[in-house]
Amino acid sequence: MKTSPGQLVVPFLDLQEQNRRIRAQLQEAIESVTSRAQFILGPAVERFEKAFARYLGRRFCIGLNSGTSALHLALRTCDIGPGDEVITTALSWISTSWAISYCGATPVFVDVDPTTYTIDSELVRRAITPRTKAILPVHIYGQACEMDALCRIAEEHGLMLIEDAAQAHGAMYNGRRVGSFGSAACFSFYPGKNLGAFGEAGAVVTDDEELAARIRRLRDHAQDGRHHHVELGYNMRMEGIQGAVLEVKLLHLDRWNALRAAHAARYQELLAGPPNRPVIPMTHRWEGLQLPVARQPEAHVWHLFVVLVAGIERERLAARLAEQGIATGIHYPTPIPFQPAYAHLGYRSGDFPVAENVMRRCLSLPMFPELSAEQIEHVASNLHIALRRKVA
Ligand SMILES: *Cc1c(COP(=O)(O)O)cnc(C)c1O
Repeated sequence: MKTSPGQLVVPFLDLQEQNRRIRAQLQEAIESVTSRAQFILGPAVERFEKAFARYLGRRFCIGLNSGTSALHLALRTCDIGPGDEVITTALSWISTSWAISYCGATPVFVDVDPTTYTIDSELVRRAITPRTKAILPVHIYGQACEMDALCRIAEEHGLMLIEDAAQAHGAMYNGRRVGSFGSAACFSFYPGKNLGAFGEAGAVVTDDEELAARIRRLRDHAQDGRHHHVELGYNMRMEGIQGAVLEVKLLHLDRWNALRAAHAARYQELLAGPPNRPVIPMTHRWEGLQLPVARQPEAHVWHLFVVLVAGIERERLAARLAEQGIATGIHYPTPIPFQPAYAHLGYRSGDFPVAENVMRRCLSLPMFPELSAEQIEHVASNLHIALRRKVA
């Protein structure tokens, strides 16, 4: 990013700063793995698995090499295969639907709720056919889906419910952690997630002992005893170093999430102006911002702080912020069903009016626990300036 000297810089995410603050703990944990050469699985991974299962109130956690692998193995062990349909959201990272496709099943995409951008449960109900086998909701941007409604639908129709919780470590729904609702739930520990490893990592959590045992086997070439492979397996094991780093970082997760929530509240305050009198109204004549909404305060862990931009092209707004040293992101520019990889499913523009609108206008502002008050104010004041400038 090109900035003028002395200018305040606001990165989108600052992992170096996070690691710096707990460096001693991290180094000790990594050293204990490397000095014993316990590089693949091993005691650090086992300790993390136990700790993370306990954190979520789940019986089992199986550490894997990515969130994508977690989704893949969870669906596979729920016996999803060719001929099956899995209902999922049009608005997510591509891995959610990859997992369905890896199993040979068909993703059936539905639109999202206009307030929270999580999957619209009424549309899930309407998308059910005799081939539907499972529902795969995503707690998008860090916010829990409407789990009551989704659990009810799954139960009424005898469907599996598998949560994609890759963006929502620690988020709650009605006092219960996400990841504790479905037959299985999938997490990613990609470095930029709320709980991030020092490389690729992921996990499945479940209460089902048989499912857990099968995922444990599948991640290690489906070995049932050494050199005895009982089905088609994979190399999807978690690395020892990742287990060690995650074990340390899990101790900080709730505190980090609380900081994210405080930053989100501060953004809301600075960007919305006095209650009920928005400084930046959403009307056709004005440049406007639509701020994110948390359905329940504890439901949102603010993996991303996503605003919708109106009246000005978001790329122009992003460019103006970049001139002021502020990094932004777009999560995501295209609904998954419109990706070329899914062209064969025949979805058309207009099939997902809400998701299409969000994805045309969304802009993610810097959001990470170590953001300073000064950085948040810098973002907010430059948003105000950039939005007003075009009117004048
Ligand atoms: C990050 C992410 C994944 C995939 O995780 P990886 O660890 O990168 O494979 C899956 N689903 C969602 C919603 C994600 O954000």
